Amino acid sequence: MNVKENIQHLRTEIPQNVKIIAVSKTKPIELINQAIDAGQIDFGENRVQELVLKAKQLPTNIHWHMIGHLQTNKVKLLLPYVSLIHSVDSYKLASEINKEAIKLGKNIPCLLQVHIALEDTKYGFTDEELFAFLDNPQLKTFKNITITGLMGMATFTDNEIQIRKEFKHLRKLFEEIKKNYFPNEPHFKELSMGMSNDYRIAIEEGSTMVRIGSLIFGERNYL
Ligand SMILES: *Cc1c(COP(=O)(O)O)cnc(C)c1O
Repeated sequence: MNVKENIQHLRTEIPQNVKIIAVSKTKPIELINQAIDAGQIDFGENRVQELVLKAKQLPTNIHWHMIGHLQTNKVKLLLPYVSLIHSVDSYKLASEINKEAIKLGKNIPCLLQVHIALEDTKYGFTDEELFAFLDNPQLKTFKNITITGLMGMATFTDNEIQIRKEFKHLRKLFEEIKKNYFPNEPHFKELSMGMSNDYRIAIEEGSTMVRIGSLIFGERNYL
């Protein structure tokens, strides 16, 4: 297993305009450093404590992506270190991020996580909740967050037809929301979809960010 080679190989097949987020959850600093040596700057973590611990030990020019479920009581700890939160899935969470961002004098880019999979274990807004969230007039008062796009995880299955259907649906929501809620707002442009097992399909369906863990760092023992 060679992290550097894995990243270089992925770069040869992933278009330049699709950002690779190296998902380093559960993996040691040593392996992250190998990815950094390959020129990787964007890393994804799904736990706040782990992200913060790693961020403190690594160069400050690394971009940390929070990709896992985020509890409101961890927002304050996370914000000084995070570049993009992929997992905003409630009004309460958005409000908390905005509140803590004001205290820091920062603006935090956020993606809205949409539940597109068949499994009911995955987090995210249903379509209905998503539109209710976007229709909430209070959202406009959240000046210290910027909603830059959507994130979704497809069903964990070998059925490519199912996966493609889910990504197509997310893409359709993205286009609809861009047109109706963010017209003339170029910052609404990210579609975070695709993992090790389905990133090729995700890219075909319009992904702008793929979150890849095991193909870069090897299989995980847990999570
Ligand atoms: C773990 C994780 C990934 C990466 O998964 P791999 O299958 O190892 O590529 C991507 N997105 C999220 C939200 C994750 O939790």
